[in-house]
Amino acid sequence: QPAAARPVPKPWIAAIHPYVPGKSTGTDGRVLIKLSANENPLGTSPLARAARLGSGAGAGDPARYPDPESHALRGALGALHGIDAARIVMGTGSDELLNLAAQAFAGPGDEVLYQRYGFSVYEIAARRCGAEPVVAADRDYAADVDVLLGAVTARTRVVFLANPNNPTGSYLPRAELARLHAGLPSDVLFVVDQAYAEYVDADAEDGALDLAAAAENVLVTRTFSKIYGLAGERVGWATGAPHLIDMLNRIRGPFNITVTAQAAALAALDDQTFVAASREHNRAERTRFVAALAALGNHGLRPLPSEANFVLIEFTGAFTAEQAYNGLMDHGFITRWLPGQGLPQCLRITIGTADEMDRVAAVLRQMAEVAR
Ligand code: PMP
Repeated sequence: QPAAARPVPKPWIAAIHPYVPGKSTGTDGRVLIKLSANENPLGTSPLARAARLGSGAGAGDPARYPDPESHALRGALGALHGIDAARIVMGTGSDELLNLAAQAFAGPGDEVLYQRYGFSVYEIAARRCGAEPVVAADRDYAADVDVLLGAVTARTRVVFLANPNNPTGSYLPRAELARLHAGLPSDVLFVVDQAYAEYVDADAEDGALDLAAAAENVLVTRTFSKIYGLAGERVGWATGAPHLIDMLNRIRGPFNITVTAQAAALAALDDQTFVAASREHNRAERTRFVAALAALGNHGLRPLPSEANFVLIEFTGAFTAEQAYNGLMDHGFITRWLPGQGLPQCLRITIGTADEMDRVAAVLRQMAEVAR
């Protein structure tokens, strides 16, 4: 009997490897301390929590659709960052906006370019619209402007750069970002993904928002998932020239930011004290954690420079990244081992509370001593 005909997926969709999210349980189902998804260890601003539960003004009526234009939220974002709200579009997390950017400007026959070890959604975003993902070689895990520019072809339509990058933590400074932009043809969309921008020292800002304000081909994406502690509400935004924003508005979900998400994000923006505390916590704990790893001496355990809220550690010595991952799991911590992203030698650890970082460093110290 012939097999029943069934719907045939587009080959470029069938070629997608699903995104693998950071886990919160071990293989045995045990709930672990989660240092695997770059979430905020301080949680969420109390103001945002209150707004989300409806005690804040504007939490709204769940029987009604949310404001499709997120007016209040875009207005507040524009005021905070000095951007005309008409140049801002909201997304269901910045993930949605990355996908929409690729979809609007690339398709079958086109190329979407990014660095090796770039954020894993870029490959999915490229494949989703039928374009070909093109990976430029890294330089010691970081983006290399010359290699990226050398990989541009007549078919390149979109270039993605996360700055700081996930999972490496690497960062292109302002002059290098400007050089990359200047070297790109003006009809190539340059997407600067600033999911971790708030963790970068203010005097080291990469200038991406200035580029998005001045250039016709630059889109900057941001998120409430990291420093604003609202990963569960799924709120991201993008800014750029009006003609770019117009295209994303045409294809986004019309009601893509829920009533509660709009209320929570608006209240979170209002609590810049929480944002500053989160930034300071991260800076202090990241510095302390990296110093604790350095104090282990030469065990072939190299933390890569990070401007974000996590540290990628390369293991080349007495024990492997997989062993470290399993050892930390035995002690109740879930981190991110990255064999699926071509990084079996690396473990990414999100910066947690001070106590968590002490305990993680102690486990690694113990493993280093046993392996000696
Ligand atoms: N860009 C980068 C570089 C990220 O690491 C993440 C989160 N993992 C995102 C974008 C997406 O975040 P969200 O969809 O929660 O805004």
